[in-house]
Amino acid sequence: MKIIDLRSDTVTQPTPAMREAMAKAPVGDDVYGEDPTVNALEELAAAKVGKEAGLFVPSGTMGNLIAMLSHCGRGDEIILGKRAHTFLYEGGGISTLGSVHSAQVWEQADGSIALEDIEAAVRPDDVHAPRTRLVALENTHNRCGGTFQPPAYMAAVGEFAHARGLRVHVDGARIFNAAVAQNVDVKALTGPVDSVTFCLSKGLCAPVGSVLCGSRAFIAEARRWRKHLGGGMRQAGILAAAGIVSLNEMVERLAEDHARARRLAGALSMNPKLVLDSGSPATNMLFMNLSNDVGMDAAQTADALRERGVLVGVTGARRFRLVLHYWIDDKDVERVVSALGDILT
Ligand SMILES: *Cc1c(COP(=O)(O)O)cnc(C)c1O
Repeated sequence: MKIIDLRSDTVTQPTPAMREAMAKAPVGDDVYGEDPTVNALEELAAAKVGKEAGLFVPSGTMGNLIAMLSHCGRGDEIILGKRAHTFLYEGGGISTLGSVHSAQVWEQADGSIALEDIEAAVRPDDVHAPRTRLVALENTHNRCGGTFQPPAYMAAVGEFAHARGLRVHVDGARIFNAAVAQNVDVKALTGPVDSVTFCLSKGLCAPVGSVLCGSRAFIAEARRWRKHLGGGMRQAGILAAAGIVSLNEMVERLAEDHARARRLAGALSMNPKLVLDSGSPATNMLFMNLSNDVGMDAAQTADALRERGVLVGVTGARRFRLVLHYWIDDKDVERVVSALGDILT
């Protein structure tokens, strides 16, 4: 029986085309700047998001950390969302490793941070306060349901921040999902901001890696931090080769995951034991709660699903996340619907 793994899109395995590209990739020592495949990936990534330069990093977490440490110095402050990945799930790295402070602001339900809330969080020039240096956004926003922000919002935040001498970083782990969902060029989302990290290892199916992009000067600084943090890899072209396939072949097809997420949500919304978050899923993930009359909790329900070969993410006592990706097809979606139907009677 095929295991249907909906816990995350990080579980995606490399495609056959990726494995072939990886086997054939010309490589060199990337710390010396001599890996042609890494260099090609970095150039391709930068061109895609409309930035001067890119930096291949082992993970999205390291990409965000390097970005924030490159933008900020000791005692500086970053305005970020209370439900942001950078705040919740990155070990507080900006503080432990960079002596950088965070001003946490509640996002709107759609994952945006309201301009007036950013404005209220900007510190006065006063010896009592840390220096506000950076605004960090997340697009798509994971904890807010895989929601996306439109170009107009990205432009508004960019304009607001730049007018005050602040910079903007986007945790764009799933920025291509955001672009594809809106049918816009990703540059419309990344153009207004100073730096962006995106993951190759999620819906884009590469086994490892993210790319941080920004200006040439910014990436030169970021390259120092990558080495400093132990992220300088050697013949990393083996990995970058898969990332090139991701960018060339796997971006447009993200729309299939979004369509399947909507179909899955439609079918599950017929089940009275499940309360789906309102609205159709924005991208490739859906969140839901067990209804009050279900005796089991989320962990018990996930165990029962596991016995039926379905893995889901438990994100609260009665809450789940289901993520669609390349290795989930229409038959799998049917199996998930019927497994949940069997368990929740
Ligand atoms: C996955 C993810 C990251 C980075 O995760 P890694 O596992 O370190 O690659 C960053 N931000 C968001 C929103 C994510 O979903």
